[in-house]
Amino acid sequence: MNGERMILAVASDIAGVVRGKAFLASERERRLQRGIGLAPANSQITCFDIIANTPFGALGDLLLIPDEAAEVEVDFDDGLPPEHFMIGDIVNLDGTVWDCCSRSILKAAIRRLETVAGLEITAAFEHEFQLKGDTHVLGQAYGARDFATHRGFAELLMSAIRACNLTPDTFMKEYGACQYEVTIAPESALRAADGALIVREMTHAVARRHGHEATFTPLRDTAGVGNGVHIHFSLSRDGKPVSHDATRPGELSEVAGSFAAGIARHMASIVAFTAPSAVSYLRLTPHRWSAAFNNLGYRDREAGLRICPVTGRDPAAIANQFNLEYRAADASA
Ligand code: GLU
Ligand code: MG
Repeated sequence: MNGERMILAVASDIAGVVRGKAFLASERERRLQRGIGLAPANSQITCFDIIANTPFGALGDLLLIPDEAAEVEVDFDDGLPPEHFMIGDIVNLDGTVWDCCSRSILKAAIRRLETVAGLEITAAFEHEFQLKGDTHVLGQAYGARDFATHRGFAELLMSAIRACNLTPDTFMKEYGACQYEVTIAPESALRAADGALIVREMTHAVARRHGHEATFTPLRDTAGVGNGVHIHFSLSRDGKPVSHDATRPGELSEVAGSFAAGIARHMASIVAFTAPSAVSYLRLTPHRWSAAFNNLGYRDREAGLRICPVTGRDPAAIANQFNLEYRAADASA
């Protein structure tokens, strides 16, 4: 007997945990309209599977409506069922957006930025993670030998990311014990955020297939370095990049400078969302190249907000590549 194919409808909660409910693939059209049922209290489940104090209690009902544009179907051809999920938006029973749906909050923020400033965001999330059950080989920070050991893992992850219609970029043995980093090419804001979830899910899927468990915890060992999620972003107007201005301090255009100033002004509040766990603050300490400071740093890897280097030579290439990196984020967000 073959298993009946199912599609998992998912949403990322405020702690970065992907949760959802699976429906039959044969019911796809109906589920794209009607979604699946959820309880509002689901949003208050912590990473430790306890429901935090909630105004909802046992009451109320919501729908998670899967978005076809955020569908992932990856067949690893290994005899296991394909990974198949769709990220969705959470709505009230009457179809209106639920106030606590993080993906809808992002969509509203994208619209607001367009309305008030005529700006669009392009972004890429850079993920660090560690493999549990992996052997820590001393002397292999950025090491070629450790990369060679994990080449199969890396190459399968690149293929999986590409199969999700994202563009894989780099993979490396990072500095920490059993620590790796994966990057993908920039996307428009909503796709970039969906892409962060997808890259993490694909990393877990590939790790499982290699007999490992991946962890994105902000800090696994207080004597070691942390796992950051660095958010690279740039601004554009009518499709044209507008973050770079060679004549200004740090080469930041006036509008990008204002945007950076807004982040610096509010960073103490923003980290409540981007680094929301107690462990997050063990990572955000000096000498870990994380983001111990609320500052704007020119090519400085300890800055909360870093002005990144560019490799392009001509003005158009520089304008295209020039980006800021928000470093005070981790995967518990
Ligand atoms: N592991 C560092 C962090 O926690 C980042 C190191 C780097 O890639 O610059 O953010
Ligand atoms: Mg790194």
